[in-house]
Amino acid sequence: MINIQKKIKLDQYTTFKIGGEANFFVAISSLEELMESLAWAKKNKQAILFLGGGSNVLINDKGFRGLVIKNEIKGIKKVKETDSSVYLRALSGEWWSALINYTTANNYYGAENLSLIPGTVGAAPMQNIGAYGVELKDIFAELEAVEIKTRKLKKFKLADCQFAYRQSIFKNKLKNKYFIYSVTLKLSKTPKFKLDYGDIKQILESKKIVKPNIREVVNAIIETRSNKLPNVALLPNAGSFWQNPEISGAQFKKLQKKFPDVKFFKTEEGFKIPAAWLIEHCGFKGKIFGSVSAYEKQPLVLVNLGGARAKDVTALAQKIEGAVWKNFGIKLVREINYIK
Ligand SMILES: Cc1cc2nc3c(=O)[nH]c(=O)nc-3n(C[C@H](O)[C@H](O)[C@H](O)COP(=O)(O)OP(=O)(O)OC[C@H]3O[C@@H](n4cnc5c(N)ncnc54)[C@H](O)[C@@H]3O)c2cc1C
Repeated sequence: MINIQKKIKLDQYTTFKIGGEANFFVAISSLEELMESLAWAKKNKQAILFLGGGSNVLINDKGFRGLVIKNEIKGIKKVKETDSSVYLRALSGEWWSALINYTTANNYYGAENLSLIPGTVGAAPMQNIGAYGVELKDIFAELEAVEIKTRKLKKFKLADCQFAYRQSIFKNKLKNKYFIYSVTLKLSKTPKFKLDYGDIKQILESKKIVKPNIREVVNAIIETRSNKLPNVALLPNAGSFWQNPEISGAQFKKLQKKFPDVKFFKTEEGFKIPAAWLIEHCGFKGKIFGSVSAYEKQPLVLVNLGGARAKDVTALAQKIEGAVWKNFGIKLVREINYIK
């Protein structure tokens, strides 16, 4: 039985601690409750917003005129095992960190580089979460999603999801059309660590670990992330505000001529430039604008210093985007989901 509440403040449900009120709000813990909520929204002609951990959203100050459905549908189960792999099916309201704890405790390999990413399992496919050279798509088997219009459950295989860097079909063509209900991961029973990104190797070396086990890799990831990223409990934020822009070879040549120290990584199509480098070179790193700032250790993350509103964050974001465009001719694309 669902409990539809009225006029609920949304800032408490986001890691940015920002957002106005929802006209209607419901927390769901089963598929049946999802179906009931969808039926209620249809009957009462209300728009729908799904919320997981609220760690990738910026909700506007006026709030949401409709029904916010907060996903608390939990559960993790091994559904298949072969000689080399295991398949874990997690329900979408499960915390991503709980899934990482499960894979680590059971020595199921492949997800360790995605440790300490906040949020729920169901939001992970939305932007094909990624970190330290691993993306969700690398361990993805399939997902189930409920089509809002028909309330029917449909399976999506890897190719159906159109995963790309911080992208999926659910963020594009099928935006606001499906509720992701479960995600099945295919994990390896033998180690296949990717340690070449960031300073994971150095951290392990500093601890004199030559042949790390899964727990040691997870701990190294947690350590490096904790050193660089603000703790949301102390400095509310929503992770990277922008994607790293990708530019063509010709554009990169020009940029490198002007800025020989530009950081980059080569991709299949061109060159990816760390947005943090661009923002830092425009002088925003650690600079405070009232109640918001580009984090002093990682300026790609905008932080709420206390009492910030969505309009304060967007004002700073626009300033940064303008400066990057003016100085480098590069357009920053937002990673965050702005909720109007
Ligand atoms: C400190 C910090 C570090 C981060 N680091 C990373 C990182 O390294 N890599 C990375 O990729 N991301 C990172 N993020 C971003 C974020 O954690 C991920 O995008 C995460 O998957 C969001 O999960 P969530 O449950 O909080 O989603 P929410 O913020 O609640 O929702 C995000 C979007 O997905 C939609 N949505 C949520 N659940 C569902 C569902 N079940 N079905 C359909 N739509 C849904 C929402 O409507 C919204 O549009 C970071 C965030 C923070 C705060």
